[in-house]
Amino acid sequence: MGRRNLTEQGATAWAVVVAAGEGRRMRTGALAGGPKKPFLELAGRAILMRTLDAVAACPLVERIVVAVAPEDVAMTKELIAPERERLRVAAVVAGGPRRQETVRLALEALPDTVEVVAVHDGVRPFVPHEIFSAAIVAARRTGAACVALPVKDTLKRVAGECGASGPVIGKTVDRSDLWGAQTPQAFRASDLRRLLKKATRDGVEVTDDTQLFDRAGLAVEAVRGDARNIKITTPEDLAMAEAIVANAAGGMLERHDDMRVGTGLDLHPLVPGRRLVVCGIELESDVGGAGHSDADAAAHAAIDALLGACAMGDIGTLFPDTDPAHKDACSVEMLADVSARVREGGFEPRSLDITVMLAKPKLGPHVARMREAVSRATCLEIERVSVKAKSMNGLGPVGEGAAYAAQAAALVVKSRDRETRDD
Ligand code: MG
Repeated sequence: MGRRNLTEQGATAWAVVVAAGEGRRMRTGALAGGPKKPFLELAGRAILMRTLDAVAACPLVERIVVAVAPEDVAMTKELIAPERERLRVAAVVAGGPRRQETVRLALEALPDTVEVVAVHDGVRPFVPHEIFSAAIVAARRTGAACVALPVKDTLKRVAGECGASGPVIGKTVDRSDLWGAQTPQAFRASDLRRLLKKATRDGVEVTDDTQLFDRAGLAVEAVRGDARNIKITTPEDLAMAEAIVANAAGGMLERHDDMRVGTGLDLHPLVPGRRLVVCGIELESDVGGAGHSDADAAAHAAIDALLGACAMGDIGTLFPDTDPAHKDACSVEMLADVSARVREGGFEPRSLDITVMLAKPKLGPHVARMREAVSRATCLEIERVSVKAKSMNGLGPVGEGAAYAAQAAALVVKSRDRETRDD
């Protein structure tokens, strides 16, 4: 676990939305001669615009670069113009003939300060923003992450030509370790730049960016995707996408019927010579929290609230204070870790409300940054994160300035569509 304070990183994740493919598979039959697939309308809105809606819903994405075929740049700019601000689109750039060339060209539009870049297909409009965030968080942690989903169908090798008698089903392929790759795929921007350059130099061609990392021997973390995150490639996919949009209003996309609430509480003594950290923000103070980690009681309460909602134990069992690895640990990073574990456990955090009890300094001027830090760590949209302050009016150890306390409440939803594979 790194010691770097997440809150000091700034908003440095950008997204690249790739929509430069020709879409030959779509422009057949009844759709021949029609618009290319990113520009096809899905329930009255271009697929690309729906994809940008989904990416812009991710609170960790600062800006978006859209890459389209050179002949589509002007049209795309026009399409996006009325909503450019809301969608945080920084640039529309011309892509190349191949995907990796397109990504390389799009990266040129990114400032050097961008730390993580998430590359997403322009024709995946249903990516849940939580998954987008999880990929960015994973890439921040490990350098590279790919959203993927275990293969559900039994896989068969098929031999022979499609003729009068048809191809023949052969051996069943073991699918126990097979996952289907989706997007986003998120990377440390400097690594992706370097590997793309090398691939161009070596004449290597890949169909997705993760392969570049794989070829270079760099680990890519798998982030569990979602069955709805389909890539609209064929007319059949478009029909499926229309069904997803139609059913969204009927509750297919959101299930709120299995909600769980958790609470957390923490108290640390305040002593000279220690840092005072509240929700990842270091405050100016003569005293700071005593404890094994950075003694961020607010983050600890949030962690216990999330774990409590999922009945997944508590902070003490996950991060024992006997473990030297957690000495002076950044608690907001622990909160990020716990949020990831909660999601891996099949729960989706929905809101977090933290009350900080501290005599001084006044927290008001720092609350916005605290909410932002918690939002980043938990991949919750900022309006789902609340931080409130109480001075305790001079009463008790907190009011007298001898201690710092916090309590938190979390709401999570049990995800029922995380299907288990039925063998
Ligand atoms: Mg604590």
